Amino acid sequence: MRTLRSLALLAALLYSQGTRSQTAYPKGYFRNPMDIPIDLAGNFGEFRPNHFHTGLDIKTNQKENLPVYAAAEGFISRISVSHTGYGNCLYLQHPNGYTTVYAHLNSFDEKIQQAVLQQQLRARQWNVDFEPDSATLYYSKGQRIAYSGNTGGSVAPHLHFEIRNTASQRVINALHFQFDIKDATPPVIRKAAVYNAAASIYLQSPAVYVPVKAPDNQYIIPQTVITAYPVIKLGLTADDYMDNSTNNLGVYKTEMYADGQLLYSTLMDELDFARNRCINGYTDFKYKAEQQAWIQLLSRSYNNGLSFYKVLEQNGAIDLSDGRVKNIRIVTSDFYGNTSELRFSVQYVQGPGTPAIAQVRKAATAFDYRDRHYVFRTDASAFYDDVLLDIRKQPGSNPWSCLLQLHHNRIPLASPQELYIRLLRPLPFELRKKLVFIHEVKAQSLPGAQAQTGLKASFVNGYAFARIRTMGNYFVAIDTVAPRMVAAVPSAWHPNTAVRVTVQEESTGIRSFKAFLGDQFLVFSRKGNTFSYQVPAGLPKGTHRLRIETEDENENRREQTFQVTVH
Ligand SMILES: [Zn+2]
Repeated sequence: MRTLRSLALLAALLYSQGTRSQTAYPKGYFRNPMDIPIDLAGNFGEFRPNHFHTGLDIKTNQKENLPVYAAAEGFISRISVSHTGYGNCLYLQHPNGYTTVYAHLNSFDEKIQQAVLQQQLRARQWNVDFEPDSATLYYSKGQRIAYSGNTGGSVAPHLHFEIRNTASQRVINALHFQFDIKDATPPVIRKAAVYNAAASIYLQSPAVYVPVKAPDNQYIIPQTVITAYPVIKLGLTADDYMDNSTNNLGVYKTEMYADGQLLYSTLMDELDFARNRCINGYTDFKYKAEQQAWIQLLSRSYNNGLSFYKVLEQNGAIDLSDGRVKNIRIVTSDFYGNTSELRFSVQYVQGPGTPAIAQVRKAATAFDYRDRHYVFRTDASAFYDDVLLDIRKQPGSNPWSCLLQLHHNRIPLASPQELYIRLLRPLPFELRKKLVFIHEVKAQSLPGAQAQTGLKASFVNGYAFARIRTMGNYFVAIDTVAPRMVAAVPSAWHPNTAVRVTVQEESTGIRSFKAFLGDQFLVFSRKGNTFSYQVPAGLPKGTHRLRIETEDENENRREQTFQVTVH
């Protein structure tokens, strides 16, 4: 016994001393959570606006309501119901230290559905996120837990399936756990980008080359790439594909060599959710905003704590100052080892002289930008690279503040930063809760651009204040208008039909929606700004008073009543 243990210890020691410490993920422990073949519409680490995709998106053949099964035995440790993000979502905790996650579901197993309804009635709201009593909702491997759907931030029916480490809540590339997936299709290399390593990513546009495909998944740039920069960094655009599918997926592994020396390598293995927004520093955000295409930077930005980087020599910088031709090799592969390779040569030829770069604010330093109209307080974690901010004010037509042009939103913020805009006149006390920053997003094609135009602000010593996540144009407004319904509620209610109510909110968001039939709270579900109620058979027949209360983020409430007849 003792020998065995010390042997195991020795093995563990040897293992951890390997060049790449790989976690031994259990293989075959989890089954396919559906009973259709796993056909992926999305994979782990794929680039999405403001985040990396964290799960496997399993296609459900354009259908909803397909059964979803427990991938292994365990208990339901968390349930969330939301009109955004994961939609209706289950977390199943397993005895082996992992938790599986099932998102965008239409409905849950009856036992779970009951627990959710109890929680919704208790909270008097449909959006809930809670941890049920662990003893009650136990499922064995292969037992049905839910039906698939298209809820939350989903645009087509599919199951989003994740595997997380329960203790750390880090999400792991689920392919490590071995599922029956056939993939012999290598990634496609689309572009290589060359940057001046001496300048911020935000103060240049890369030279972009489209390689030529050669046999055996080789790609080349036929002519030697000539650059006027003595030290360069590189970028890459590549997409992976599964067999017989047109869905773009993310690549698993990327390596970059200069004259045979490995300078950069990344593996899409595990992700800490707190770092998920670092996609905006992992890729060239400005290029994405301007060209609608991703470039993975083959170097590491500031304020980027992603764990994908395995090798990073000279931060990916390639020194060409001696004028010799260097041979570059970029290798990228999918999880199953299907590999594509790009080769080209590059040479520095002195140009007419690099223009002097203006004084820039270093990425990893704090700084307050301010004048009598505003304070933009940036801490050392604000930016992924050095910035030279152009901040302007315009009188604007609005009465409460100037229009502040905070540079533009092609520079991402790595973390929320404090913005204060001075109010041009005294604000009556009762309006202090009604402040809002109107955020004008000019380029709608920006990564993560949302319809959101208003951000609730608070009153601080004559300023409107909020922590902002994007740069761009801001001014202050007062929001005293409550959300309003777009059309009247239908007056005749029949069992097993849906009642739909659409609500409009001008400035911020709908914080709450509550409906009461007489004294009874009705659980309306939400998709976007449309609220639906499935009329049950057991509702008391006859004419009732329906009361609907809505509220926005600035505490503007509206109450409306309707006569409805239940048939
Ligand atoms: Zn997904």
